[in-house]
Parts: sequence; C-alpha cells; structure tokens
Amino acid sequence: MALIFIGQSKCPICQQVLKEGDKITGFPAFISNYKDPLYFFNDNGFHEACVPTHTQGTLAVLLKNAYLEETDPHSRQCLVSGKPVPQFDRYFCTGLLTSDQDSPLFQYNFLSFDRAHIAEWPSRPELLLALTQLREQGQWDDCLGGGILDDMIDTLSGN
Ligand SMILES: [Zn+2]
Repeated sequence: MALIFIGQSKCPICQQVLKEGDKITGFPAFISNYKDPLYFFNDNGFHEACVPTHTQGTLAVLLKNAYLEETDPHSRQCLVSGKPVPQFDRYFCTGLLTSDQDSPLFQYNFLSFDRAHIAEWPSRPELLLALTQLREQGQWDDCLGGGILDDMIDTLSGN
C-alpha cells in the first residue's frame, strides 16, 4: 500500500494534509502505465470521503479491489489450467492494462497465468496484437521506459 506520512502527505483530491484521526484509504502501486487516467490514484493515500467525489473514484476502488483479489498469493490460479500457480516465478499477471472500459484491452485486466500454460491460452494472439498496437501508438509509458509492456509482450510471444 501507498506510503502515507500522517501530518505531511496531502490528499491529492482536496489538497488538505492527511491528519491523525482522518479516515484514510490507500491505493497500491497497481498501475504501471503513466498515461492511464487512473494513474492519479496509483500508490497514493486519500481521505476516504474524497475518493467518491472524484469522477474516476468509484472505478479506481473497483479496480483496486480486483487487483488485490486477483494477486492475493493465496488465490493465484492459472486461467488456462484452473489450478493454483505452484511457484512465484511461474506466476504471470497481466495487471491493469487499461482503466478504459470501452477499450478491448479492459477484458484482459488482471488475468493470472502459470507461465508453463500461457502458450495454450486461446486469446493469447489477440492480447498480443492489442499490446503491440498499444506500444506502437505510444499509449504506454511505465517506470521502466516501456519495459513492463515489453516484458508482457515477450512473455505472451513465448520468449
Ligand atoms: Zn481529501
């Protein structure tokens, strides 16, 4: 969860300092793409009451919960085999690809796989194409200069 300094950190919505006794809600670092409109919430703390006042607040909470549920180490299941992913290094999650509910990528948010089975996933070519287009159109920028997207493309390509 976001690192929040009570008495120092400001709520990005109302710009007031988060004080002791305030009801505060934190968002994890669950968005890799700086260009996603929801990046505003990434790794940040807010007044609980301020979040729903933001136009994207409800969606941000919904996607945060989906992220936490899907990536919980106790519930990591491969979409292909339907079985738990045996080792951490075999776990692959698509993460938040887009917060745009109208985007064809939205259905691929937070999908979990055992890397050993990903080649058998029927929708793999479609997602691969959509991610390649995202890269070509310059709609993705992450803290690794696009490296997170590159890694995903490599994994889906079977590299
Ligand atoms: Zn606030």
